[in-house]
Amino acid sequence: MDRTPAPARRPAPVRRTAPVRRSDIPAAGPQRRAGTATGAVLGAILDHGPVARSTVARLTGLSPASVTGHSRQLLARGLIREAAETAGPRGLGRPHIPVEIDTGQFLVAGAHIAVAHSTLALMDLRGRIVAEDRQPHGNTDPRRVLSALAARLPRLVAAHADGRTVLGLGVATGNRVDPAAGTIVHHPQLGWRDVPVRERLAAATGLPVHVDSHARALARAEQMFGQVTTRSSAVLLFVGAVIDAAFTSAGTVHLGPRAGAGSVAHLPVGPVGPVGPVGADGRAGAVLSCVCARPGCLHSVASESALLGMAAEQGLRVPSFRALLDLALAGEPRARALFGQRARYVGRAVALLLDTFDPEILVVVEPAAARLPECLAALRAEAGTRSLVCEDPERAVVPGSFTGSVLATAGGAVALGALYADPLGPWPSVTAAC
Ligand SMILES: [Zn+2]
Repeated sequence: MDRTPAPARRPAPVRRTAPVRRSDIPAAGPQRRAGTATGAVLGAILDHGPVARSTVARLTGLSPASVTGHSRQLLARGLIREAAETAGPRGLGRPHIPVEIDTGQFLVAGAHIAVAHSTLALMDLRGRIVAEDRQPHGNTDPRRVLSALAARLPRLVAAHADGRTVLGLGVATGNRVDPAAGTIVHHPQLGWRDVPVRERLAAATGLPVHVDSHARALARAEQMFGQVTTRSSAVLLFVGAVIDAAFTSAGTVHLGPRAGAGSVAHLPVGPVGPVGPVGADGRAGAVLSCVCARPGCLHSVASESALLGMAAEQGLRVPSFRALLDLALAGEPRARALFGQRARYVGRAVALLLDTFDPEILVVVEPAAARLPECLAALRAEAGTRSLVCEDPERAVVPGSFTGSVLATAGGAVALGALYADPLGPWPSVTAAC
C-alpha cells in the first residue's frame, strides 16, 4: 500500500522482527568487489586529480599494472580524461600523464523529496550543481509526486545539460529509506509507507535510479566532495523538517540490517514540560508533543514544525520556516532566541552522538548553525559541556559543506555515490559510449 495516514499523537506501532543472523546479511559478490577496485581508482582521481596513475597506485595500494587497467576502462567510458599538462619527469611514458575526472560528457540527476516541496538538480561528476529546480508539492500522494518529478526532468536536462548525457537519477528523502529495495519504507510526515520509488522512477525516466536517506546521502557527499576523508570517521546530523543522522567510517556509510541507522529524531533531549522562551506576557512556551508520544524528544523541540509552533506562541506568525530563518538572519530578537534555543537542544543530541560513536568530526546540517555564529557557538558549548569524550568541540563539531545547496546535493550524491562505488556497474549510457 502506498499511503497510510500517520496516526496523530499516538505512539507508532512497534514492529516485531526476528533477530538478524549472520546468514541473513548479504555477502558482497565478485562483481561488487571488481567494481570497488575500479571505484577506488576513480575515487582517488576525484580526490587528487589531475594525478599520475603511478600516484593512484600508491594511494589505493593497487599495483601499477592494475591501476593502468582500471584507468584504461575509465578512459574508454569517458569518466576520466588525460589532463593537458604532464606531471613528473618527461619521457617516462603514459603512467606519468595525469588523469582527472571528465566533467564534459556526463551528469547525474538528483531528486530530494522534502515534506513541503521537491528539489530536482543536475550535478557533474565532480559534485558541482549545474542546475536546480524546487517546486512545492501540490499533493503528497506518492504517485503524483513521483510523476511530477519525472515530468520535470526532461525540461531541466534540455535547458542545462549542454550536451552532456544523464547517467542516472539519485533520490533522497528523510526517515526510513531502504537503498537495497529502492523503497521509502516509512515517512510519517509525508504519510508514505513502502513506496517503490526506484521502480516507479526508473519506469518513468528510463534511467538507473538509486535511493537513500538524505542524511546518508549528505554523509557520502562529505566523503566525496567535502570535509570527511576516506580514512576518517564522521557522524552527520541533519536537522530540518525531518531529523536524521548517518555514521561513516573508513569510506563507508553504515546502513544497518533494517536500513534504520541514524533514526535519532526522537532522542530525549528536551524538557517534558513547556518549551520555548517565556513570552512578553509572562506565559511559558508551548508543551510540544510528537507522534512518538514522548514529550521532549528532539523532533518535538527542534524540527521545523516545532520552531514554527514556538514562533506562533511568541507572536511571530510567519508563512514558512524559511521566513522565520530570514527573520533571525535579519536580527529579529525572538526569532534569534528560538534558533539559539534550537542550537542548544541540537547540541545535546550532538553530545549523545559524540559519546556513542566518538567520530573524528561531527557534521551538523542545520541552517542557523551554518549562518549565525552565535548559534554554532551555543551548539558547540552545549555539546562540549554534555559530552563525556569530546574535549574540543570547536574542532570536532563543524557545519556542513553544502550550505545553500543541501537538498540539491543530497539527491545527486545518491547517484554519484553509486557511480563511484561501482563505475563499471549497470550504467547504460556509459556502456553505450564505449
Ligand atoms: Zn518524537
